[in-house]
Amino acid sequence: MFFSIFRYIHLYMTLNEVRTKYLEFFRAREHAVIPSSTLIPDGDATTLFTGSGMQPLLPYLLGETHPEGKRLTDSQKSFRAEDIEEVGDNRHTTFFEMLGNWSLGDYFKAEQIPWMFEFLVDDLRLDANRFYVTCFIGAPEFNIPKDTEAAALWKKAFERRGISAAEAEIGSEADGYNRGMKPGERIFYYDGSKNWWNRGKTGPATTPVGDPCGPDSEMFYDFGTPHDEKFGKHCHPNCDCGRFMEIGNNVFMAYLKEAEGKFVPLKSQNIDHGSGLERMVAAVNNDPDVFHLDIFQKMREKLSSFSKSGLTDNDTRRIRVILDHIRAATFLVSDGVEPSNKGQGYVLRRLIRRAMAHARLLNLEAGWLEVLVHSVTDSYRDAYPDLGSKENNIVLVLNTEYEKFSLTLERGFLEFNKMATVSAKDAFNLHQSYGFPFELTKELGVEQGKVVDEKEFRAEFEKHQEISRAGQEKKFGGHGLLLDTGEIKARDEKELVVVTRLHTATHMLQQALRDVLGPEVKQAGSDITVERTRFDFTFGRKLTPEEIKKVEDRVNEKVEEDLKVQKVVMPKAEAEKTGALFFFKQKYPDPVNVYFMGNDLESAWSKEFCGGPHVNHTAEVLKFKIAKEEAVAAGVRRIRGVVE
Ligand code: ATP
Ligand code: MG
Repeated sequence: MFFSIFRYIHLYMTLNEVRTKYLEFFRAREHAVIPSSTLIPDGDATTLFTGSGMQPLLPYLLGETHPEGKRLTDSQKSFRAEDIEEVGDNRHTTFFEMLGNWSLGDYFKAEQIPWMFEFLVDDLRLDANRFYVTCFIGAPEFNIPKDTEAAALWKKAFERRGISAAEAEIGSEADGYNRGMKPGERIFYYDGSKNWWNRGKTGPATTPVGDPCGPDSEMFYDFGTPHDEKFGKHCHPNCDCGRFMEIGNNVFMAYLKEAEGKFVPLKSQNIDHGSGLERMVAAVNNDPDVFHLDIFQKMREKLSSFSKSGLTDNDTRRIRVILDHIRAATFLVSDGVEPSNKGQGYVLRRLIRRAMAHARLLNLEAGWLEVLVHSVTDSYRDAYPDLGSKENNIVLVLNTEYEKFSLTLERGFLEFNKMATVSAKDAFNLHQSYGFPFELTKELGVEQGKVVDEKEFRAEFEKHQEISRAGQEKKFGGHGLLLDTGEIKARDEKELVVVTRLHTATHMLQQALRDVLGPEVKQAGSDITVERTRFDFTFGRKLTPEEIKKVEDRVNEKVEEDLKVQKVVMPKAEAEKTGALFFFKQKYPDPVNVYFMGNDLESAWSKEFCGGPHVNHTAEVLKFKIAKEEAVAAGVRRIRGVVE
């Protein structure tokens, strides 16, 4: 009786309470509590920000000895610029904290799973009836077994609290997860696209040789909201409809990929646990909106006092954007970022400017920014003492950017409001003359039905960039090497060879993407350095690991075929009729060069308008590899590729 009433009483918890409880829970289990690393990774040029708890600890997961020992716990400040456009929903924030506990070759699944259950259900009183987990289904082709071990541990934990938990294989993305969930099922097996960890999260087949990897087990909370069929016929824990929220992930780093297709047990097996603190609190409070957390509610109350007419439910999205962006900006500045036009500084600038635009649309009176910053520092000063000591500087940096942008923002809005529609040129001018980040023009344009064509804008933007670059930069060896998106900088013959191979590989990549994904793939930008090629293209969703592998294989198949790479010069109008691809027409001279791969132009596999240079035979590319696939903007994906 007592127990059953108790189950329905949710304790309301604050962010700081949950963080402290988590760290104390693991401290009591002999973990050293280590401080968060900064948001700016040092010495790691591949990412602008620290985006997870795993990132700063990677060297130790790979075998280095950690000075604090083999059991660690922390709350890592994380920032994901790639989630900036998701902000506005109830669960994504750009800045968040990731709770972690780490076993560096010490304990493993048999400790981790019961601990997590005990912490969430017994300590935090998370409603166990709404708790679901996922496990790895296995990869028989690589002799990696189904993770029945993890499932059995979860099952036992549920049963000890009087809940029966059936297991089920849920299916795959390819079949649309058509099986659905049956009553009583709580433990679901997914394939490598969901429940496999390696650096870059790609699945066993595409895990790089020499890397540690392993199955993982994710934890979900069921908010019981109705399923939305837009996301698939049936709901399941990994469905994006919003019913289930991923609280966190337990990674069982168990294998080393020794060779292609060969996985051997790691000498020392690790646990990497990562939970989003904000989401954990939301689940514990049984409220799916992370903006209802105490720290955001305090900010919101402060914000209301700057609105004469009062804030309403219609303003929710704008309010979420402002609260998220100012919290994130406060943490970024405390870690040393200053607004600028590139890198981390540009992201910070975008956050501030976007928050300001939304504040203006809410007719907020001046002064809100500083008050919100103080609200953030007050909430976090105990956990992050440096926020308190740097408070004055943070306010100064943010206020300076505020002042700098206010006047242009007003003028920009006057301009923007005059426009009935916004063309690529208009968007460019708003950016150039009023400092309106393109994303802002796009967002407001879409909101107000003024439609901005992103692809055209990017083309416009790159054209201007190119013109200024071509005018300014010293050219290689006296003759410039003008590629699609600007100038290649090669310091010597050796670098020139690599860059040329990468350039040919880029053409091959575009055609391979079209072969695998269809003709909606179009170039949206590209950039080549001696290290890599970066290719942006239009496509509406993330590529699956299988698709990435297929694209890579397709390129390498054409490398093997050793196609001739040839050039013809022809009138632009005629060149267009050949079906040759171009980035944006205006930028090519008339007559134009068409590079093609194959014996003749008509039957060629790849054809593109291009200034060169290219290799003479595709075999010279040697071997192409996709290093990363990610989103750059809505509908635009980015691939980084390398040649070996
Ligand atoms: P999602 O699919 O919801 O974006 P993810 O797959 O990107 O999540 P992971 O990369 O596995 O998440 O990160 C681990 C945990 O970090 C997640 O379980 C979640 O709790 C938290 N998390 C990830 N992204 C965000 C975000 N933008 N805001 C808040 N928490 C996040
Ligand atoms: Mg995500």
